[in-house]
Amino acid sequence: MAKPIFKTYQQNQVYLFPPSLEDMIAINHPVRVVSEVMDRIDMDIIIKKYKGGGTTSYHPRMLLKVLIYAYLNNVYSSRRMEASVKENIYFMWLAGMQQPDHHTLNRFRSERLRNILKEVFAQVVLLLVDSGHVGLQEIYTDGTKIESVANRYTFVWGKAIKTNREKIKQQLKELWKYTQKVAADEKGDNTPPDFDKIDSKTVKATIEKIDAALKEVEVSKEVKQKLNYAKKNWPAKLKQYADQEKILKGRNSYSKTDTGATFMRMKEDHMLNGQLKPGYNVQLSTNNQFVVNYSLHPNPTDTRTLIPHLEQHKKLYGSMPEVQVADAGYGSEENYQYLHHHNIEAYVKPVDFDRKQKKNWQPNPFASDQLEYDGSKDVYFCPAGTEMKNTGQYSTKENGFRKTYTLYKATGCRNCPLKEACHKQKGNRLLKVNHNGRTLKQQAHERLKTQKGILYRKQRPADVEPVFGNIKSNKNFKRFLLKGIDKTEIEWGLLCIAHNLKKVAA
Ligand code: SF4
Repeated sequence: MAKPIFKTYQQNQVYLFPPSLEDMIAINHPVRVVSEVMDRIDMDIIIKKYKGGGTTSYHPRMLLKVLIYAYLNNVYSSRRMEASVKENIYFMWLAGMQQPDHHTLNRFRSERLRNILKEVFAQVVLLLVDSGHVGLQEIYTDGTKIESVANRYTFVWGKAIKTNREKIKQQLKELWKYTQKVAADEKGDNTPPDFDKIDSKTVKATIEKIDAALKEVEVSKEVKQKLNYAKKNWPAKLKQYADQEKILKGRNSYSKTDTGATFMRMKEDHMLNGQLKPGYNVQLSTNNQFVVNYSLHPNPTDTRTLIPHLEQHKKLYGSMPEVQVADAGYGSEENYQYLHHHNIEAYVKPVDFDRKQKKNWQPNPFASDQLEYDGSKDVYFCPAGTEMKNTGQYSTKENGFRKTYTLYKATGCRNCPLKEACHKQKGNRLLKVNHNGRTLKQQAHERLKTQKGILYRKQRPADVEPVFGNIKSNKNFKRFLLKGIDKTEIEWGLLCIAHNLKKVAA
């Protein structure tokens, strides 16, 4: 048997020219892309956040490189980053052999980058525009929900606050009425409080008045108990509700352990129990599978996220995109109106678009959108062919957006043989039409069926959806680590920069 030959192994060999880390890193390694791109970023915006004086600080460029490279390698915990800058040659090279600890890395991530990371992100995107990797004219937008690190069972519901306040109001009313009945003092102030505007202060004052009046008369034990309970609990409860409503800011819910998170239904329900979880609605715009814009929202639905998302695009790049492609979740009158107003070509599906494209779809001749309209006379023709005349208009305001509806009324429904199939209303059929919404929706339908529209529709799921897939599956990012919308936005921004740079490296 031949004798085995081993390579020389000398662990403590002394080198005349010690090898440098630089030599150990392949020329096309992703860490070089991170370093080169971040070397071209203007750091002034971050440097301005340092007060100056005191002890020396690690350079923000080095810390930012370490963070982005960490996110590129699915390392999200600051303790694991600290270990990496001590053990991993790529991190050691990026950090210039410096060893920031996890406190420093975490403070830099959650405090120094707060409210400014988006500008850094935009600088990276603009570099990618210059290098021809990405364009800002055509954007594909979609959203997903990402769970917060918050405890899932520490919720506050806006509806419960309203119900409880209403209960206090009713009980206070009853107590007031009772007091007026048994102990109204002719000399005293018997003006009833404004029960519609009850708050901690007014309730406290009212209870004191009731208490003083009832002291003069004999009352049952039950009333005494109720009054004592009210004195002890209601002002404090109402103060708590007012504080909670300030945090809610119009939302339906929030988590006590991450007040920025709203309870929403998640697509990936890892607990498989269908329960609402605290989280954020993350919106992404992509071009060529690169992220060009991201934003986080408390709204569980996508409809109302598009306008603030596009406003941010303008803020980051100085102008609006020329083409917006999105799925049916964004097809609202308000969004179409906004896109039209900003001259953005909208390839945004109306809610019923996919249903109407199916081969087996049959229009319902009685449906309001199938009735013929004569614009010159401003009349609709009902399925029986009789005129439905304009009988008036009304407007509603939803989240600040005004919608106008015109009403058209049929005649002779009572004796019509089609009545059963036509409508279930009492009397003659009343048609409610939002002309503006209908026209914008119709235009969207037509645009989506053009050659260009078909191409954009095909490209949409291939452009934006793989980015979510990459972040959630390949990068295994399914839950935020930090709390609050400011900090979770930083996490998402780092993921987006890392995603873009990884694509460049690939
Ligand atoms: S029920 Fe009224 S609206 Fe419907 S087809 Fe008959 S007349 Fe027209």
